[in-house]
Amino acid sequence: MSLKGKTALVTGSTSGIGLGIALGLARAGANVVLNGFGDAAAVIAEVEQFGARVGHHPADVSDPAQIAEMFAYAEREFGGVDILVNNAGIQHVASVEDFPVERWDAIIAINLSSVFHSTRLALPGMRAKGWGRIVNIASVHGQVGSVGKAAYVAAKHGVIGLTKVVGLETATSNVTCNAICPGWVLTPLVQKQIDDRAASGVDPQQAQHDLLAEKQPSLEFVTPSQLGELVLFLCSEAASQVRGAAWNIDGGWLAQ
Ligand code: NAD
Repeated sequence: MSLKGKTALVTGSTSGIGLGIALGLARAGANVVLNGFGDAAAVIAEVEQFGARVGHHPADVSDPAQIAEMFAYAEREFGGVDILVNNAGIQHVASVEDFPVERWDAIIAINLSSVFHSTRLALPGMRAKGWGRIVNIASVHGQVGSVGKAAYVAAKHGVIGLTKVVGLETATSNVTCNAICPGWVLTPLVQKQIDDRAASGVDPQQAQHDLLAEKQPSLEFVTPSQLGELVLFLCSEAASQVRGAAWNIDGGWLAQ
């Protein structure tokens, strides 16, 4: 499939899953607007290897005004956004009664509210062009809970709800909106949870095995490039009637 001539904006694409998705979209020919913290120059160079145009905007997606600036940049430099991948996300693990209020607010802002703001800013341009794809990176935690993850689970359930509404509001157009629900993917976000387990004296390899064994029957991580391939499928004509879905890719986590 060729996405030549399309522009994709992937939030939180300087690392992990977002970077894997950005690479998949660039490989298929799309121009890519990257977003996220860290060494943008190195990531731009990596995504540029496929020959498409690549930009980066440093918006902190917890701030609606910065999200609006990012869309203005995409409009000015790339002529708008055809494919929006809402991927930026953070995690914090604590029980509800110990959960820092500031972390709750940050997770809701980054993992949920940013999806609303990007979507409302992307839709008018997609409708005007008569084509668009919105893919929200939710999680298995958009469908089930886990202890210690109140804000994350609440935000991801919200993302799936928002995906359904946008899927319905765009149902008679060539714009689709779907969510992807990954299980464990070995990224910095998950490595921190493995490190926290190892900090209590468990061997790091054992900590990684235990993390998988608790939830993911395949005992293998999902990879960022597999997620990139699934995003490409959702961008294809074959997926034009996939609307408002929450698509699991989780080594069997949600089959239990
Ligand atoms: P990661 O920590 O590797 O990457 C997060 C990215 O988001 C980075 O590029 C970071 O710079 C960016 N980011 C963080 N806060 C930001 C902000 N305020 N504004 C803009 N960018 C910001 O994490 P990851 O594991 O790749 O997670 C990506 C998404 O996938 C998240 O939404 C996460 O909830 C989801 N997810 C991850 C897993 C997993 O096992 N890793 C599983 C299911 C869902």
